[in-house]
Amino acid sequence: MSRINAVIFGIVGGATLSTIAGWKIHYPVPVPPIEYSPDVRYLDPPQLSDDHVGQCIPCVRPGRSGGVRMDREEVGGKVVYHNYGHAGSGWSMAPGSSLHTVSLFESEPGVCSSTPVTVVGAGVVGLFTAARLVARGYRDVRIMYESDHDLASHKAGGLISLQYITEGQQDLREAGTSSFAFFSGLRRGEVSAGQLFGLDSRCGAVSSLCKAVSFFAMTPQAFEGFEEYMAKGWIRPPQKVTLQFGATGARHILYGIDGAMFVHVYEFYERLSAMLRTSPSVTWENTTLDTFATVPTCYIFNCTGVRARELAGDAAVSGMGGHLLTLQDQTPKDYIVYLGLTKEEKKMLGRSPHQFMYYFPKGEGLLGGTLVDGVTEDYVFESTEFDRILKDARDFFYGKDKKWEKKINCD
Ligand SMILES: Cc1cc2nc3c(=O)[nH]c(=O)nc-3n(C[C@H](O)[C@H](O)[C@H](O)COP(=O)(O)OP(=O)(O)OC[C@H]3O[C@@H](n4cnc5c(N)ncnc54)[C@H](O)[C@@H]3O)c2cc1C
Repeated sequence: MSRINAVIFGIVGGATLSTIAGWKIHYPVPVPPIEYSPDVRYLDPPQLSDDHVGQCIPCVRPGRSGGVRMDREEVGGKVVYHNYGHAGSGWSMAPGSSLHTVSLFESEPGVCSSTPVTVVGAGVVGLFTAARLVARGYRDVRIMYESDHDLASHKAGGLISLQYITEGQQDLREAGTSSFAFFSGLRRGEVSAGQLFGLDSRCGAVSSLCKAVSFFAMTPQAFEGFEEYMAKGWIRPPQKVTLQFGATGARHILYGIDGAMFVHVYEFYERLSAMLRTSPSVTWENTTLDTFATVPTCYIFNCTGVRARELAGDAAVSGMGGHLLTLQDQTPKDYIVYLGLTKEEKKMLGRSPHQFMYYFPKGEGLLGGTLVDGVTEDYVFESTEFDRILKDARDFFYGKDKKWEKKINCD
């Protein structure tokens, strides 16, 4: 999958509105919330002994060659607005991509607030779509979904970045920047972002769902996906920093940015879901669809993630496998570390191209990762990947000389 290789052409601040499909979005443009801090960072490492490691979680990102599908199609007399294939950037795009598809719906002749409409899928994309519809005043919104737990949406690390947008997808870039502005507004307790939750007066209650964190990586290339935010002056370009891990003595020179947007995805999902469960405008139907023909409304939003392959007959959709290890019994940190190895380093160490390691401050802490392209339902996740991720993390945070008791058992 090709990534944007956009040129960062400098800091462009100043705009106060973004526009998607003719809509004026009144999210005040966020300003960098954190000034750049010193070149040496003294950080607490996560606890990585066996009893601090929780679950081994295999998971699938809903990818699509050619990028996210965000368009309108007539299928058997119904109008379907597709919104799927967000790969590893679904949370980063859902606020903006839902705005885009809802605006397509609103441009249909005759649509009014009582027009019945169905959202298929209750992942982050489906929930944001339903929330947008409710916020726009639609009173007959149905959510049809197979599951609302243990989804790709719950597995996400929670970094807001646009890593999976293919060249030339301008509407997606706009959706992505609008999403960042949305989360940023929410973090700062701004009413315009809180309105989506129907919580105007209690906006502070949702602002804790997002926070600014530092993000460290081995090479500046790891920050691809932030170009749009950097170009707008919302995040500064990466700078070299030295990380010093307290008592462990591990020391690394990496690249870092401050003010990266981090979302507590699980809590966010629960909040959005609770709001929609109590909305008088929304009905929920737990069902598995084989075809859009059985959906009772004429207008349908298709937010089915990797399953759009069958439902929309889209062979471009494919799973991108990942391995996660949850941490337990510790306080999460305020930073993300991403260790991607260069091609040469991988060759030297005998690593395959899909292997890397990250630490996220999600829950009590999270280690990942892999990105295995073309995963299907019968894919067998290699359990040795979990050991490899843990070893890489231990080496990084504690140095290669430290001896550890034993490996985890993920079989
Ligand atoms: C390890 C990992 C790390 C990630 N990290 C990040 C990150 O840091 N930042 C980020 O932005 N994104 C990240 N992502 C990506 C993000 O999680 C996904 O892009 C996003 O969750 C996709 O949401 P979705 O709503 O499209 O799909 P899903 O969450 O998969 O939801 C699909 C919904 O459709 C329903 N459905 C499917 N088929 C049918 C059917 N036939 N009938 C009825 N209902 C159906 C399902 O039941 C479900 O409710 C990560 C993903 C993974 C796996």
